[in-house]
Amino acid sequence: MHAHPDDESSTTGGVLRTYADQGVRTVLVTCTDGALGDAPDGTTPEAQHHDRAWVAGHRAEELARAAAILGIARVEMLGYPDSGMEGWSQNDEAGSFWSTPVADAAARLVPILLEERPQVVVTYDEIGFYGHPDHIQAHRVTRAALEASGLASSLFYPAIPSSAFKRFREVLREADVEGPGGDDDDEGRGPPGTPDEKIDVVIDVSGAVDAKFDALAAHASQTESSFFLKMGRDRFRQFFGTEWFVRAIDPLGRSGMDHDLFAGWRD
Ligand SMILES: [Zn+2]
Repeated sequence: MHAHPDDESSTTGGVLRTYADQGVRTVLVTCTDGALGDAPDGTTPEAQHHDRAWVAGHRAEELARAAAILGIARVEMLGYPDSGMEGWSQNDEAGSFWSTPVADAAARLVPILLEERPQVVVTYDEIGFYGHPDHIQAHRVTRAALEASGLASSLFYPAIPSSAFKRFREVLREADVEGPGGDDDDEGRGPPGTPDEKIDVVIDVSGAVDAKFDALAAHASQTESSFFLKMGRDRFRQFFGTEWFVRAIDPLGRSGMDHDLFAGWRD
C-alpha cells in the first residue's frame, strides 16, 4: 500500500521482486496520481506551466513499467490527487488524498483486501516514513481498512536502521549526491532512521537489487529528484541489497529477528 508512483520501487522494490521470484502473488495499491511530481521534461510542480494531468498520465505509464519489472501481479491506482509535500498549499485542496476522510478511502481499499485476503500487508509507519502527508494518510487508510476488513493479516512498516542511514549518507556524500534532508540530530530529533534494536525483519534482497534499480529507472520523469538514480547502479548495489521492516500487527506472535515477511505463514 503506497502513496505515489515510484514509492513501490524505492521502498519495497526488493521484497516485491524477491517474493514474485518465489511465486508469491503480490498486489500494489497506489493511492495518489503523483501529479505533483516533476514532469518528464524536468518541470517542477512549482512552475507555472506544470501540467498535472499530463504528469499523472505519464507517471501511470511509468508505474506500469516498474510493476512489470518487479513482477507485481496486480496494480490498483486509487487515483487521489497528490497532496504535495508537507506544508504545500495543495495539501488541503478539495479532493486531495490528504483532505479525504480516512474512512472514505479505506472503504475503497476494503474490497481489494477481501478479494486478495493477503497474509502480509506493508505500508508506512505513522509518520509516513519521512513525514509526507500522502504517506501518513496511506498509513491511516491501510490501518482503517485492515480493521474494517476483519482480516488477520500481518502488517509491516518499512524502515531504515539508523546505522544503515548513516552509511547511506556516507555513500551519497562519496558520490557527491544530495540525499534526503537533515543532518544527524536534525532539529533535536536524534539521528534519522529507526533505532537498530527496533528492526524486526531483515531481508536479503540482493538477488533483486538490479530489478529494483531498473524499476526506479522506469520512473524516469523523477530522475531529477531521485538520489537513488543519481548514486549510480554500483553504489546502489552496495547499499540496497537489504530491506528492513518493523512488525506493526502480528497475528502470529513472532518474536526475535525474522528474515522473511512470511515467516510463520509458510510453516
Ligand atoms: Zn511518495
